Amino acid sequence: MAREYPLEKVRNFGIIAHIDAGKTTTSERILYYTGMTHKIGEVHEGATVTDWMEQERERGITITAAAISCRWNKTDLPKAAENLTSFNIIDTPGHIDFTVEVKRSMRVLDGAVVVFDGVAGVEPQSETNWRYADEANVPRICFINKMDRMGASFEKSFQSIIDRLNKNAVRMQLPIGSEENFEGVIDLLKMKAYKFEGKMGDQVIEFDIPSEHKSDAEMYRAKLVEKIVEQDDTLMNEYLEGKEPTTSELKKVLRHAVINNKIFPVYTGSALKNKGVQLVLDAVVDYLPSPLDLPAVKGIDPRTGEEIERHASDTDPFCALAFKLQADPFVGQLTFFRVYSGSIEAGSYLYNSTNGSKERLGRIVRLQADQREEVKVVYAGEIAAAVGLKETKTSHTLCDEANPIVLEQIKFPEPVIQLRIEPKTKADQEKMGMALKKLSDEDPTFKVTTDPETMETLIAGMGELHLEIIVDRMKREFGVEANVGKPQVAYRETIQQEAEAEGKYIKQTGGRGQYGHVRIRIKPLLPVVEGAKISKNTTREDHFEFINNIKGGVIPQEFIPAVEKGLREAMERGFVAGFKMEDISCELYDGSYHDVDSSEIAFKIAASMAFQEAAQKARAVILEPIMKVEIVTPEKFMGDVAGSLNSKRGQIEGTEERGMSQVVRAKVPLSEMFGYTTQLRSMTEGRAGFTMEFDHYEVVPPNVAQTIIAARKA
Ligand code: GDP
Repeated sequence: MAREYPLEKVRNFGIIAHIDAGKTTTSERILYYTGMTHKIGEVHEGATVTDWMEQERERGITITAAAISCRWNKTDLPKAAENLTSFNIIDTPGHIDFTVEVKRSMRVLDGAVVVFDGVAGVEPQSETNWRYADEANVPRICFINKMDRMGASFEKSFQSIIDRLNKNAVRMQLPIGSEENFEGVIDLLKMKAYKFEGKMGDQVIEFDIPSEHKSDAEMYRAKLVEKIVEQDDTLMNEYLEGKEPTTSELKKVLRHAVINNKIFPVYTGSALKNKGVQLVLDAVVDYLPSPLDLPAVKGIDPRTGEEIERHASDTDPFCALAFKLQADPFVGQLTFFRVYSGSIEAGSYLYNSTNGSKERLGRIVRLQADQREEVKVVYAGEIAAAVGLKETKTSHTLCDEANPIVLEQIKFPEPVIQLRIEPKTKADQEKMGMALKKLSDEDPTFKVTTDPETMETLIAGMGELHLEIIVDRMKREFGVEANVGKPQVAYRETIQQEAEAEGKYIKQTGGRGQYGHVRIRIKPLLPVVEGAKISKNTTREDHFEFINNIKGGVIPQEFIPAVEKGLREAMERGFVAGFKMEDISCELYDGSYHDVDSSEIAFKIAASMAFQEAAQKARAVILEPIMKVEIVTPEKFMGDVAGSLNSKRGQIEGTEERGMSQVVRAKVPLSEMFGYTTQLRSMTEGRAGFTMEFDHYEVVPPNVAQTIIAARKA
């Protein structure tokens, strides 16, 4: 079976935005318009998006699916099968606690539409997301939404993009009117005006630019043309000689520049008032990359450890990345994956090169706005969901067993907040275990552990909201009622210098004897200087290293794993205040054994004793998460805000003006930030707001450490 769409007609993109900028509304409109294209004539005249969303909900699909597939016929092309482009829209959440989700989606999307509120312009989350997109080299087009709102300004919003995101943003359009008089847009390449008629704005009407907008349009077109020709020497020379480039020449060069992150085209409209969204979709086709425009994906050959590549080609061996697990009310667990090379058929076997398991790929589905489409084959560059995979988790590589490759893992930050959770009834006990396992399989920033002392269950995540949502999902999706404790900071411990120690566990009086004896050396894996920043954005596995340096069999091989186990367990239990120790290298370099009395358990205990002593000598300390905090406040509360940060051991790193407000950037220990929402509100008459995200771990000052230790003891 051949592929339905040639690769150059595939667009995998996401819609990213600060909360409330209009991502949901824009997505709904996209699904509506693309649905119309798909089944033209079937949609009842006059049906509103809301009616349509209602039906969609009844069918159990919402726009929160990890990826939705749809098809778009550009407005300037006749409706025909060969003019369709296949879209996979990848969901990216807006709240800061979920930035990790944004990061994750950046890995699988090829381009993005960034939505801005036409009143607020660039907001904190737009900046964070923009930076993630920069890191992942994701080409972007911008959509300044809400042009119908009171106070909307295309120029101001555009300027905020230039000032705070990228100076290579260009106006592709100008609005016609604004606020309640917002009517439509002018396309500066085609030099035509557009309005959107019909109940849902589904008829796109082209007309001549109204005379009062002519001179502005000409001025901004000239700027746009200049910006584009700068990207291409031939075009530039011709332009300097006075030859005006054709629209198709301009589009070709612009496409190349956008794909290479040299230019960021800016569009405008009002999703709510059904104006402008279709032209943004045309721009997705014109300027965002197809999988063919991207460099080959890199990975490691697990057999040799060498770096290898896979191209977006159906004839390369199959490889794919599982990027999201999501429960589906109708078919159970869905594993969304993106195919980078080759193809895979439903019913065949997959090799999971991350954990070495083999799984049968039963059914494959693609989620559409109004249905689930069964798919027989998925080709390079496409996105789909597998039903019923058991061993595959987020970020795992799936591939052809004969040609294995492990794609780069998505790196997730460590959870910084944790709380105790216990089932309300005995009956909930088992269900809770299952629910937590499922949820942590889905979300790599959500971790479940057991307190080694009290045996209580601890759940850890990226923020209070993150854990609140998990607890809520546990109740709604799994029917588990639970009591939760207060959120607490996820402290860690580590050591500050190298140390050696000896551990002996010897019992030779009466009965069976015990004999374990080790000498170990421990070293910090991270350069730790008191008070220095310790960046721990690594994967968990990096936090412990075991080096077996036993020579001449002074400890027989059979007891070595027990030594490693003893060390791991000692680190798990912590030393200073019972928090997990991390980033330590342990070298076993000497010891002795007894022919009869030595046992695994004796060596495990000896190792653990040695570790305790070594940790003491190595000046073990407590580490705390430090958050990057950004507060937006009216000028007159600046003094109070700065004072509140100082009293929280915060360090103010800078302030700047943003429109009518001041922005304060600071680094503050997470433990000081609980309840700050309320404090800030009452301090500023509710007019200031803040966002925060994890930045790094730092050694806690001695006086704070005392308090933490005392609290743990109590
Ligand atoms: P999200 O949080 O980014 O998904 O934003 P939503 O799409 O949920 O929109 C947030 C609010 O802004 C809702 O009340 C929308 O009705 C409103 N909204 C979205 N787009 C527009 C628009 O173009 N104009 C106006 N006036 N309001 C809009």
